[in-house]
Amino acid sequence: MKKILVANRGEIALRVMRTARRMGIQTVAVYSEIDRHSPHVSFADEAVCVGPAPSNRSYLLGEKIIEVAKNLGVDGIHPGYGFLSENAGFAQAVTAAGITFIGPSPYSIEVMGSKLAAKDAVRKFDIPMVPGTEDAISDVEKAKAISAEIGYPILIKASAGGGGKGMRIVENEKELASQMERAISEAVSAFGDGSVFIEKYIGSPRHIEIQVLADTHGNTVHLFERECSVQRRHQKVVEEAPSAILTPEVRAAMGADAVKVAQACSYTGAGTVEFLVDEHLNYYFLEMNTRLQVEHPVTELITGIDLVEQQIRVARGEKLSFSQDDLQINGHAIELRVYAEDPHNDFLPSIGKLTTYRPPSGEGIRVDDGYKEGMDIPIYYDPMLSKLCAYGKTRPEAIRRLLEAISQYDIEGCATTLPFGKFVLEHDAFVSGKFDTHFVKNYFTKEALLAGEEAESQVAAALALQLYLKEKKRLKEPLVEDSVWRLR
Ligand code: ADP
Ligand code: ADP
Ligand code: MG
Repeated sequence: MKKILVANRGEIALRVMRTARRMGIQTVAVYSEIDRHSPHVSFADEAVCVGPAPSNRSYLLGEKIIEVAKNLGVDGIHPGYGFLSENAGFAQAVTAAGITFIGPSPYSIEVMGSKLAAKDAVRKFDIPMVPGTEDAISDVEKAKAISAEIGYPILIKASAGGGGKGMRIVENEKELASQMERAISEAVSAFGDGSVFIEKYIGSPRHIEIQVLADTHGNTVHLFERECSVQRRHQKVVEEAPSAILTPEVRAAMGADAVKVAQACSYTGAGTVEFLVDEHLNYYFLEMNTRLQVEHPVTELITGIDLVEQQIRVARGEKLSFSQDDLQINGHAIELRVYAEDPHNDFLPSIGKLTTYRPPSGEGIRVDDGYKEGMDIPIYYDPMLSKLCAYGKTRPEAIRRLLEAISQYDIEGCATTLPFGKFVLEHDAFVSGKFDTHFVKNYFTKEALLAGEEAESQVAAALALQLYLKEKKRLKEPLVEDSVWRLR
């Protein structure tokens, strides 16, 4: 592989190209008109504009992107995450054009792209699953019977859902008919597929997922877990590896089951098997994501393995150069997704110009970003500015470093989730490791955020006053003899 096109934008496009360049591979960026001056465009060896800002007229134009690749003699396409990454038709078309798709086969994408098909594929492997319906359901009476059997509350989920969308909690039978109707129509409009199914709603679960990696020679390993329970709107905001609660036994069992899930769809490349875990450490298969995950850096930090490099090697047909026994967890890593959203205002997008943008640096700090000072944040795409990661030998050290990095991160021009991240990392529930997917709902309010900030500014003011008084006193005292400056 000599030249890779990255069919994506922002931080993930840059992150993929950095590894490609390190491996001596040429890089091609595609971009929309509004992204003309983005870092991913200037970083690439070649860059081609594929259309106007809306993603369905640029980044989602699979055929056009393949044309660009053919014209430039590209031999591999990396899809990143989002956009075309989980589109089996795109993977197929790339392959048909004689270009390597850096990801799993269209078959694996297709099976795991449907939550129902995925459950069907893994059923014979004896993987624990959340109780629920095995097929899509549209008959309300049938749904009532099944829900009564499972017990309320239940969750109606879109089979084709993703990104935390297409889920409805139903508390009792009275709400079922109307919620189902809404879920189906939402699924049709958001995913073009109205199939919904019922799952038992797990009361206080943790979201823990396993990173897997498989080559084309029949070797599959797992790279341990990531804890992603801090979520807002069912979307992850803070992730860490390893989880603060897994025992070595449960970790090994989940890892082995994740490998089976990957094998169930003949998986190749890097993928993620998601589980819900209850307070007794029982775990249930949720879904598999057939792509590089947003939060993959925390796994890289604790294993020392570059997942993009592995994706490229697998796509080139190489064998994995390590076995399960060679892999181990080293230290602890935490990631905060820095979104241009206002935590003081219900996480509403806060779009603007980055008048100041100075990311932190330091020991154990990794910033994956795709912005520079002076850039406008486009309204057309996901408002994630960067991923701020900290590594430490221990969890407390990783927390300390991430807090320090948050305080050094200088962003002006839009509100960000940085203050929210600080709130989470300082919260007793997070520090003690005793939290679940309701962390935000249970503990986070704008009032709590403000109270923390006010307490802090009071402390800062008190400190400043103390310093001032000390200084005043010192100035009144006679000059000290040992100061070189003063002796002169
Ligand atoms: P991850 O699953 O990697 O932790 P997200 O769930 O936030 O992260 O998804 C990654 C990106 O892909 C986000 O930009 C999200 O909006 C997008 N995404 C994921 N699944 C879908 C889907 N089925 N349809 C549309 N966008 C999706
Ligand atoms: P998506 O494709 O949108 O990522 P997932 O099935 O992975 O959908 O679920 C996203 C999140 O929704 C989970 O991390 C969890 O917080 C919540 N969730 C999903 N299924 C359940 C369930 N059965 N019970 C409780 N919470 C759930
Ligand atoms: Mg998921």
